[in-house]
Amino acid sequence: MLRVSLGLVFAATASKALAKSNYDSHHLHNQHAPPEWPPGLLWHSSKGFGQCKCFPGDDCWPSQEEWDHLNETVDGRLIATVPLASPCYQSWDDYDDATCATLQASWTKPGTHIDTSSSVMAPFFANQSCDPFQVGKLPCVVGTYVQYAIDVATVAHVQAGLKFASEHNIRLVVRNTGHDYNGKSTGAGALGLWMHHLKDIEVVDWRDSHYTGKALSIGAGVEGLEAYVAADAAGLHVVGGTCPSVGLAGGYSQGGGHSPLASLHGLAADQILELEVVTAEGDHLIANRQQNHDLYWAMAGGGAGTFAITLSMKYKAHRDHAFSGMTLDYATTNVSADTHYEAINFLHTLLPSLTARRISVVWYFTSEYLRISPITAPQISAAGLKAIMNPLETKLTSLGIDYDATYTEYTGFLPYYNGTANPDQPIDVGIAQYGGRLIPRSVLTNAGTCQDLTDAYRFINERGAQFIGVALNVSFAVAGDVDNAVLPAWRDATIATVITTPWSFQKPWSEMQHLATLMTETLLPAIDAAVPTPPHCYLNEGNFQEPRWREVFYGENYARLLAVKDRYDPDRLLFRDRKHHYDDPLTKYHGHGEIVAQLLGLLKLLAHHISRTLRHPRRLVHSTSERSVRRQRSKASQASNPRSVNSFDILAAAPAAMTPRIHCVRHAQGYHNLSVANHSIHDPLLTPYGEEQCRELARTFPYHDRIDLVVASPIKRTMYTALLGFGTDLERTGMKVLAMPELQETSDLPCDTGSSPEELAKELDGKPVDLSLVQPGWNNKKMKYAANSRAIESRAREARLWLMSRPEKDIVVVTHGGFLHYFTEDWSGSDRFQGTGWANTEVRTYAFSASETEQAHLLETPESRQRRRGDDNKALDREEQAQLKRTVPAAQQQERGMGGGGGAARRSTAAKEAQQLQAKV
Ligand SMILES: Cc1cc2nc3c(=O)[nH]c(=O)nc-3n(C[C@H](O)[C@H](O)[C@H](O)COP(=O)(O)OP(=O)(O)OC[C@H]3O[C@@H](n4cnc5c(N)ncnc54)[C@H](O)[C@@H]3O)c2cc1C
Repeated sequence: MLRVSLGLVFAATASKALAKSNYDSHHLHNQHAPPEWPPGLLWHSSKGFGQCKCFPGDDCWPSQEEWDHLNETVDGRLIATVPLASPCYQSWDDYDDATCATLQASWTKPGTHIDTSSSVMAPFFANQSCDPFQVGKLPCVVGTYVQYAIDVATVAHVQAGLKFASEHNIRLVVRNTGHDYNGKSTGAGALGLWMHHLKDIEVVDWRDSHYTGKALSIGAGVEGLEAYVAADAAGLHVVGGTCPSVGLAGGYSQGGGHSPLASLHGLAADQILELEVVTAEGDHLIANRQQNHDLYWAMAGGGAGTFAITLSMKYKAHRDHAFSGMTLDYATTNVSADTHYEAINFLHTLLPSLTARRISVVWYFTSEYLRISPITAPQISAAGLKAIMNPLETKLTSLGIDYDATYTEYTGFLPYYNGTANPDQPIDVGIAQYGGRLIPRSVLTNAGTCQDLTDAYRFINERGAQFIGVALNVSFAVAGDVDNAVLPAWRDATIATVITTPWSFQKPWSEMQHLATLMTETLLPAIDAAVPTPPHCYLNEGNFQEPRWREVFYGENYARLLAVKDRYDPDRLLFRDRKHHYDDPLTKYHGHGEIVAQLLGLLKLLAHHISRTLRHPRRLVHSTSERSVRRQRSKASQASNPRSVNSFDILAAAPAAMTPRIHCVRHAQGYHNLSVANHSIHDPLLTPYGEEQCRELARTFPYHDRIDLVVASPIKRTMYTALLGFGTDLERTGMKVLAMPELQETSDLPCDTGSSPEELAKELDGKPVDLSLVQPGWNNKKMKYAANSRAIESRAREARLWLMSRPEKDIVVVTHGGFLHYFTEDWSGSDRFQGTGWANTEVRTYAFSASETEQAHLLETPESRQRRRGDDNKALDREEQAQLKRTVPAAQQQERGMGGGGGAARRSTAAKEAQQLQAKV
């Protein structure tokens, strides 16, 4: 827990840091007046986009008195942003040529930005708002930097910031060091929570059934090197990044976090034992594997800045020991391209055996050079490491390559880090744009695919991009007993690849945009074409324009992460606004990226109509033309807004391209279907007649040869319906039925309540099922699984979103009659049977609608409607559906035990009628 005394310590540190930097942000009482908000900022909010966040210049923007009051509430620690590069601009009071020259010279050093509450290191996301290299060309504005930041010292400061942002409907972002490659710690028009001065570090003991040993208790602002030093003083080491100033508790560990120590201890997320957090609703909580487990799970590896705000964490610390290291360099001046890539391919073939020895490797190459820097070898002597690396040296010599190799040896991690791992100078920032991929071990152990991969890297290099790789083994065998939201693909990966294209502050912005497009359309697809498994990427080192970001960054964790987001930040206070389809709640920068992409797309369309000012998209951002672009966008979005039209355009919209078809199936008859009294049977099995229905389903299902995924509610009758109905498909393809808790039935009656994971595993032992998503609590009918419409609607949407992001083409979803109405959002006939309009084992086929993709609406296919309704197949429009939803489910909910309390009499009448109907099925 954050100790009360810390506030004073931090306050002193903060004021010192602020005092020493005369170009820094200024506390509110000595602020400069920020210049006028630019007329058409790229990520402007409210006027063009409907219900968006409040922005400077809007009527709803807080008054100066209100900001002053917030400043008092947070003990005078509110900072009004003065852009870091303001001394370069005459329009600012602190204009000073000498300071500007110093800033320009050090702009690519992380240290220049870390001690400010607003400056970001990723230039694309700074959007040239106050760029020291654009003097005389562009104005210096606050732009995409936060407008204000609270220099957090206490829990109360975080809570005050959350309350203020919520009450005034303004964006809120969390900032630690500002290292994020995708600008996730900034936000235009935002209030920032600056965690940098939470520097408390303490060595503690930890004991639970998953880990017993030493740990560091670290404040949210602790940087890597600060933790290394503290651990070293206690004879320990901790997992941290290569860069000394990347924060440990912020984006790094919450996003996954690789390290020179990764092959030894796993990822940074695997080290998190406990988090002290404040949720978006202001609750001050502890999250670990015992308490608030879902939040703990999400915040360990599922991405930072979106689930809650971390104040401190307990983080595994390990007994220190000896390390050796190696660096190797050569230039290709006298080496042919074929020879160079033969050497690189050879290095790649060695990686699985190196990482199996708990060695990590970092290497870089372009067509001009190869640099390995460093190889980190725990508990191996320098001589031992040289012997291990002998095959590489022999190969390079045989190829006639003249290289330099250095081996070093140290007694502990800190001396190793200072001597070999940490380059003499800090890693530069603002020099590149990034995209990445995780490469599975299997690609490297197969000579053919390994060569394909090296060829893809050569192709990438030849288009001017650099390769950076981290080779590691973070399988569960290394990471140990962990339970977190780390992207599962990490566990099979041997290389975390980063591809970089060069960034230049001097070149036109449009060239940088072109390189971002090259990354998306050419470079990363080259890797994807060479690697036979679906693409995945470390979310901290990904391409902000990644088209399949859900799958690539979060994989099968996405639906569960979204559920945690829904639970702890239902109003999307942490930056996001769920109204916009580009506004993914987990990957904040997609908001930026997709807006940029959309804007650019629109620019292309409007290019014939808008004059030469369009040649410089950046200028457009500040011109009246941009306003017209936004008006166009606004019109376009209104046209596709279902609330503004009468017809139910979900049903009218074209199916979304590249999304799977969904074959919905209701389960076969269970014992609970036989009588209302049987609703008291817990998780009933199928009746013999139900099993016969499944055999009939297997005979008549029209798409057996196409299905490539079968998903089912983890309730026994749905699992058995899937196993019996699609058993031959499972056998033929080796697929398993994936049990998905979001698909469970709506009510909390015993018949609709699932079994514990253990009981289910016992029941289905030996059958082709995947129960990995069925976690303790899935059947508690609380929170997300509560028997009320809001919770059911929310998990139905989650399930649709998850399915929509799947790579498969034809997915079977076996679920329940009541839930199917929420899932398909089609209420027609819902009073037909017992609480549903779906007959047992009925099949209907759907495609995803291309409109409102954040809702992942489904459209029943014309063949499906024809199949079940013949010529009477007109779809209901939105109003008719809304009417049905208002009326039918009321009786249905009572029937299914959902409305809570006093429903027994009503229930029995409805049930009797329903029962009579059911008997006919
Ligand atoms: C030079 C450099 C070297 C790097 N080296 C490595 C490396 O070796 N290994 C590696 O894995 N990655 C590395 N990275 C990537 C790094 O992990 C990410 O940039 C990471 O997001 C940085 O986290 P931060 O908290 O320091 O930065 P910030 O930019 O301040 O924050 C990043 C994200 O974390 C959120 N956040 C920050 N603090 C909190 C908090 N207290 N509570 C909730 N959310 C919070 C922010 O809102 C934002 O979304 C490197 C990056 C750079 C620029």
